[in-house]
Amino acid sequence: MQFNNVDFDTYFKHYPDANGFFGKYGGTYVSPELQKAMAEITEAYQTICKSRKFISELRRIRKEFQGRPTPISHLERLSDKLGTGVQLYAKREDLNHTGAHKLNHCMGEALLAKFMGKKKVIAETGAGQHGVALATAAAYFGLECDIYMGSVDIKKQAPNVARMKILGARVVEVTEGLQTLKEAVDAAFAAYCKEYDTAIYCIGSVLGPHPFPMMVRDFQSVVGIEAREQFLDMTGELPDAVVACVGGGSNAMGIFSGFLNDPVDIYGIEPLGRGPALGDHAASLKYGTEGIMHGFNSIMLKDENGEPAPVYSVASGLDYPSSGPEHAFLHDLGRVQYDVISDDETIDAFFELSRMEGIIPAIESAHAVAYGIKLAKTMGRGSVLINLSGRGDKDMDYIIENYGIRE
Ligand SMILES: *Cc1c(COP(=O)(O)O)cnc(C)c1O
Repeated sequence: MQFNNVDFDTYFKHYPDANGFFGKYGGTYVSPELQKAMAEITEAYQTICKSRKFISELRRIRKEFQGRPTPISHLERLSDKLGTGVQLYAKREDLNHTGAHKLNHCMGEALLAKFMGKKKVIAETGAGQHGVALATAAAYFGLECDIYMGSVDIKKQAPNVARMKILGARVVEVTEGLQTLKEAVDAAFAAYCKEYDTAIYCIGSVLGPHPFPMMVRDFQSVVGIEAREQFLDMTGELPDAVVACVGGGSNAMGIFSGFLNDPVDIYGIEPLGRGPALGDHAASLKYGTEGIMHGFNSIMLKDENGEPAPVYSVASGLDYPSSGPEHAFLHDLGRVQYDVISDDETIDAFFELSRMEGIIPAIESAHAVAYGIKLAKTMGRGSVLINLSGRGDKDMDYIIENYGIRE
């Protein structure tokens, strides 16, 4: 399929290019020393990940440990209640081991570490979800695991800190600056620079310098490959629309990659939070401008000094001031429509899906559910496939404290 001069039949061969660019977005904007390390990972990824041994091992792990394939559920009661004739479906990434899609790329990254002969995986974490997924993968493969986390986040995310420690990871407290994600990223990169002979850095989304946006997309593409086949099998057709929430953008790239070359409308949903004023949301593609941060060029939210702006969302997994470079590319190209959903719409959808379908979604995923419902009301007929990136167990305390039970 041709779309604005991009040939989607051969898209994955050409995007990113050899230097990690999706059009003008992406790249490797890091120190010369880190560039060397990134080049080593790129080369290893390109040879190892095409080997039959790696592929068959990853397939076995996905099936026996992760619980893949995850099913698609027809959201029948919710669709009936809407009464428009549009049918809603959910790809159930919440049924992955550990309760979200993040394990898809963490198992891939840790398996690559193992094949490269590394002893340790290093990462930063904000809310702790990436840290827990990576600690899980490290325990599975018998790798050491250092997770860098700001002091503020450590205090806020006590259960995830405990989970990482129980899984055998070392949680390294970062006391610089605002003591949150940004400082944790810097500390993790600094540690990795010193240890890159024996360790590998594992990023938590389709972000960072090349090859990470490509690697994480490739590991997540299992979601889209499965979903396309399952949906055809269930209904005999492709969905009319596919919807996913976008923080860094890994669950979205996972499901989108299965449908980019199809006549399917694709929607990436960013958090509008409390509203469109800077600092009240994390909708980087909607309100941001081109810029470089964390080693890559993309569309980002900047403060008056051009630095990454403070962001907010009710979903801690979505409050990042940029998005992966491939999303910036698909945004400019117009192949994917990016739109926003507010905190209030998200929480309504959270309760609606729980009550109507018996599925308590992660607050991140509830953004996609809210948009799916909105879209269904405008479509008249057809089908919408929502990527349910994770389950809501992690959000229970927050929901009860801030919104109550809503009987
Ligand atoms: C981390 C997380 C996200 C956001 O990350 P992406 O890279 O944008 O997918 C979304 N949903 C859940 C459940 C998460 O844990």
